[in-house]
Amino acid sequence: MNSIGEKILRLAVELTQVRSVVGTAGEVTVAEHIHAHLAKLPYFRNHPEDLRFQPIPGDPLGRKNVLALIRGRKSNPKRAVLCLGHIDTVGIQDFAELQPEATQPDQLKQKLAAAVKFCDETAAEIASDNWVLGRGIFDMKTGVAALMVMLELLSGQTEDLAGNLVFAGVPDEEGQSAGMLAAVAAVEALAVEEGWDFAAAVDTDYMTTRYPGDDHKYVYIGSVGKLLPCFYLYGEETHVGEAFNGLDANLLASEVLYQMDLSTDLCDVAEGEVTQPPVSLHQRDLKAEYSVQTANAVSIYFNYATHSSQPDEVLAKCKAKAAESFASVIKRLNEEYEKYCRLSHIPHQPLPWQVQVLTYEELYNNVKAEMGDEIDGIIEELAAGLKAQKVDDREFSLAVVHEVHKYYSDQNSKIIVYFAPPYYPHIYVKGEDAKEKRLLDVVNGAVEEAGERYDYKIVTRKFYPYISDLSYCRIAREDETIARLVNNMPAWSRTYALPVEAIRRIGMPVVNIGPFGKDAHKLSERVSKDYSFDAMPFILEKTLRGLLAGE
Ligand SMILES: [Zn+2]
Repeated sequence: MNSIGEKILRLAVELTQVRSVVGTAGEVTVAEHIHAHLAKLPYFRNHPEDLRFQPIPGDPLGRKNVLALIRGRKSNPKRAVLCLGHIDTVGIQDFAELQPEATQPDQLKQKLAAAVKFCDETAAEIASDNWVLGRGIFDMKTGVAALMVMLELLSGQTEDLAGNLVFAGVPDEEGQSAGMLAAVAAVEALAVEEGWDFAAAVDTDYMTTRYPGDDHKYVYIGSVGKLLPCFYLYGEETHVGEAFNGLDANLLASEVLYQMDLSTDLCDVAEGEVTQPPVSLHQRDLKAEYSVQTANAVSIYFNYATHSSQPDEVLAKCKAKAAESFASVIKRLNEEYEKYCRLSHIPHQPLPWQVQVLTYEELYNNVKAEMGDEIDGIIEELAAGLKAQKVDDREFSLAVVHEVHKYYSDQNSKIIVYFAPPYYPHIYVKGEDAKEKRLLDVVNGAVEEAGERYDYKIVTRKFYPYISDLSYCRIAREDETIARLVNNMPAWSRTYALPVEAIRRIGMPVVNIGPFGKDAHKLSERVSKDYSFDAMPFILEKTLRGLLAGE
């Protein structure tokens, strides 16, 4: 570990000690701590106007971003690079009686080893001098410390920088990304007012193993994205005494769940890198009480990761799965009904069920065609009531779909596909334009040099696999794509929205150069001194210098 590594480690421990659990006043304290630290640098003593707080609009906790601007003097005064770090952490309740030590790396090690029984590998690492423990030290106080040390280093060499550095320390990453979404506005303002063109965003969030025994270290150029596709399954209720008279929405839901859940044909593959398949997060029928009626409405939704599919494509894939599932339920019901008729010696007729799958947008348009603007008034009234009750975004979305469907003249069985918040766009850095090419060249060059210098197996991959604020550095340019998202997300502009135009204007490729560690969000959260305080800062520095090199 050289002096830069030592400096980063010291600062990482110091930042960890400033507890900043998401959704608490600690997020304000840590922002003030970071601001005070940077304010001591000669550069910001000379340019105090370039070290700023940016309040999060309307935030009840008064949280704020820390923005620090370093203006290069070599050439290219319009080029800029965004350095991104989140300053919040997840909670500490999991530490139980060790909560006071959760953010004290020096004390936590011994106390945790004595109090909790870990598996052999984890216990050995906790005992080893190479690992530093503490809530947030890995996710991502070490990354923030690394960026702050880079600011210190590069702010002393502005004559070598062909462009500007913008550091944004943001709260609420582990929550609703309020910090990052506010930062988007600040970055957009710099783009407009200063005329700065953002070449790339560099994040330093955590990096870990991808499978047991994995000894690679990863630098990710780009980011995974995420959608929450939902299915509203509407059946035809019946009394259990006349089972074949109805179409059980629970059965429909089960089939959609079976067809969607962990289906690898829905994995998004780009350049050989594969997302996780969709994972179900929720299944519930809307029956409030026990009765011998079958359920007639069920809601399910999935976590859907993306590398290349846009919301309109995901919607189409989900619609196709819904139609397939619906057809297979009808087929099975007909087969069983035929057998049942044979067994009970009654005449058989095919069941009346027909496949019907609509998107929310289609449902809404159909209802609007039937009843005009009245439906909008109904939706807004419902929305106002739900908002007053602070209903969860997913429940809000479901309630709107359920309500709109009530007014539809077609009450036959159907599946309605829609989206609920949140939406995290993926960022796929293909190397198609000059900015992407430059980022790929610079990062690949830095990783190659680090590989020669250090004894680690460092590789670049295309998609940072953990959902993060990075997603809000770029969004689809196509209006059609965004329209499918917005029109199929009942919560959009009611309880949820993204600053689409601002994200489009700042649109930049991204890289995550993270410290190495293990068990983010767990008791045994720890960062490795090896790699995190030698190779990682080396790659980070080379990348920043490379992006701000030349003309
Ligand atoms: Zn993180």
